[in-house]
Amino acid sequence: MATDFTKYIASVPDYPEKGIMFRDISPLMADGKAFHAATDEIVTYAKGKGVEMVVGPEARGFIVGCPVAYQMGIGFAPARKQGKLPRPTVKASYDLEYGTSALYLHKDAIKPGQKVLVTDDLLATGGTIGATIQLVEDLGGIVVGTAFLIELKELHGRDKLKGYDVFSLMTY
Ligand code: 5GP
Repeated sequence: MATDFTKYIASVPDYPEKGIMFRDISPLMADGKAFHAATDEIVTYAKGKGVEMVVGPEARGFIVGCPVAYQMGIGFAPARKQGKLPRPTVKASYDLEYGTSALYLHKDAIKPGQKVLVTDDLLATGGTIGATIQLVEDLGGIVVGTAFLIELKELHGRDKLKGYDVFSLMTY
């Protein structure tokens, strides 16, 4: 039977603002066995997709993606906010509830044709992961899968990711 990871997620009402139920992954990260098991599930998924490189957005995409890359013996590239990467970058903008934001990836992070897994802790509207996918594709990478610890169904991020494979360990 598949592991139920939801007992390691702390649901925090009215954070960061009233009416929002924040899903805190810290208890999962804090439990070595659970963190390992969650990582292993994503690794199994990634192996099935022939993944050669992992890319995750700042900051919790690193927490999910780095152990997957380490376990598979492949590389990880961070998608970062403005001003954080020291060498030439590509940029992708995306919409927030109020305004826009942007993510950047080093131009040499991905080799053309490389099979990439994009990871984040949580899929909500899909804006963050959509921008991360765009960065990978701008560099000629092929996004063979996307993986999340948590998917918030009612925000329909999956619809935004039509044409991409979506794997999530938990849904709310
Ligand atoms: P989206 O761009 O899909 O709307 O939002 C997903 C991004 O927002 C992710 O990078 C994620 O880290 C962050 N995020 C939004 N809501 C939550 C939440 O309830 N819990 C956590 N852990 N992250 C969230």
